[in-house]
Amino acid sequence: MTRSDKHESLKNLPGVDHILELVKKDDRFLDIPRSVILDSVRSALENIRKNILADIETPITDDTILMKMQLIAKEKIRPRLVSVINATGVVLHTNLGRALLCDDALKNITSVAQSYSNLELKIKTGKRGIRYEAVDELICELTGAQSAIAVNNNAGAVLLALNTIAEDTQVVVSRGELVEIGGSFRVPDVMSKSGCILKEVGTTNRTHLKDYENAISDNTGLFLKVHASNYKIEGFTASVALKDLVLLGKNTNIPVMEDLGSGTLIDFSKYGLPPEPTVADSVRSGADVVTFSGDKLLGGPQTGIIVGRKETIDQIKKNPLTRALRVDKLTLAALESTLKLYRDEEKAVREIPTLKMLTLSFKDICEKATLLFKTIKGDIGSLADFDFADLNSRPGGGSFPDLNLPTRCITIQPKNMSVSKLEINMRLATPAIIGRIENNKYILDPRTIQNGQEAIISSTLAKVLVKK
Ligand SMILES: *Cc1c(COP(=O)(O)O)cnc(C)c1O
Repeated sequence: MTRSDKHESLKNLPGVDHILELVKKDDRFLDIPRSVILDSVRSALENIRKNILADIETPITDDTILMKMQLIAKEKIRPRLVSVINATGVVLHTNLGRALLCDDALKNITSVAQSYSNLELKIKTGKRGIRYEAVDELICELTGAQSAIAVNNNAGAVLLALNTIAEDTQVVVSRGELVEIGGSFRVPDVMSKSGCILKEVGTTNRTHLKDYENAISDNTGLFLKVHASNYKIEGFTASVALKDLVLLGKNTNIPVMEDLGSGTLIDFSKYGLPPEPTVADSVRSGADVVTFSGDKLLGGPQTGIIVGRKETIDQIKKNPLTRALRVDKLTLAALESTLKLYRDEEKAVREIPTLKMLTLSFKDICEKATLLFKTIKGDIGSLADFDFADLNSRPGGGSFPDLNLPTRCITIQPKNMSVSKLEINMRLATPAIIGRIENNKYILDPRTIQNGQEAIISSTLAKVLVKK
């Protein structure tokens, strides 16, 4: 187009008011809020203007503008945070929202959200109460700790504890424990943000008690142990047990903190998983403070839980940062209900989705796989080759980094499209179905598929497979 042609095209572009008049008479826009309409008209016209200037051929009829606008408006009103189906087999999938809440937690959230609550009121005396008291006794009961507080998340818990106990002092940590947890939580960075001075000791693979001992100076404020969570060092390794560090701390008058990361309240080795120290174990070892997540192995809402000696937790409660990191009432409601289930371990394992999915027996997995297989067979017939495959699920969430959980998956090999195209189309469906590709097959792992989702997965597969 010549410059004068472009000029002509731009001049002929309908005005916003003209399009708005057309929208008024158009049923397609009936339910779309006015602010969205206005934005969409402007974007559609702007878009066309850019195309003209860039010599990209663009039809400029009222109809095409309305169509463009409708697409833009639809995209604008599309809900952003939506539920998806997790068919990856990764139980604590960070990208998919980690832990699912148990029914009791959901009921309690609704109850506390729909009505006023005693969040900060002591009902017996009518005096002002403290929100944290909803859960601290329960946490102490379950962990054996003297005192507890729940904050926004474990990253916050670590920040708060470090800042309270060791601001402006040196915090001694093993090099092998200076981990990065996905999503930009890095121990050295949290350390500096909390105002502490990092004192690394030992080597990546081996750290001994004498390394901690030799690092002590006039300005040593804390010994910190960090759970390696998402990685494992194998081979020639050595680390110092928490109880030995506690002993050194006692002798030298230096407090000891452990960031457990995931933190569990039950002994998973009873269920055929590798032994993981429980929060109670760490408390029993004598750490002054222990921090852990509420939405990893615990299977509750996003929180960071701090347990420890009463004096230390009291100090933490007085730190102004606590207010900035405080939990809201919905979280407290969910946390209280989840924790209560732990009073009866069998019940906890049955009703807390994370625990249930992690401890599913192979026999139960096979039953789920068979049901899914049958449903798929009925729906997709010969559109794809499909079969069972015995593979592994992963716990995720930085827990049990090297653990594979035996599982029975369904593998799908489409006949009319690539496996990656199938994966994409399943992900773009509503609800999105998140599977994985292994050995050039599309894999559905029943471990994380919830009851009743089989039919949705299967009918989506059928739809997606006929669509090119
Ligand atoms: C996950 C993790 C954290 C961060 O916990 P969030 O609850 O995600 O904030 C901190 N430390 C360790 C060791 C972890 O594994």
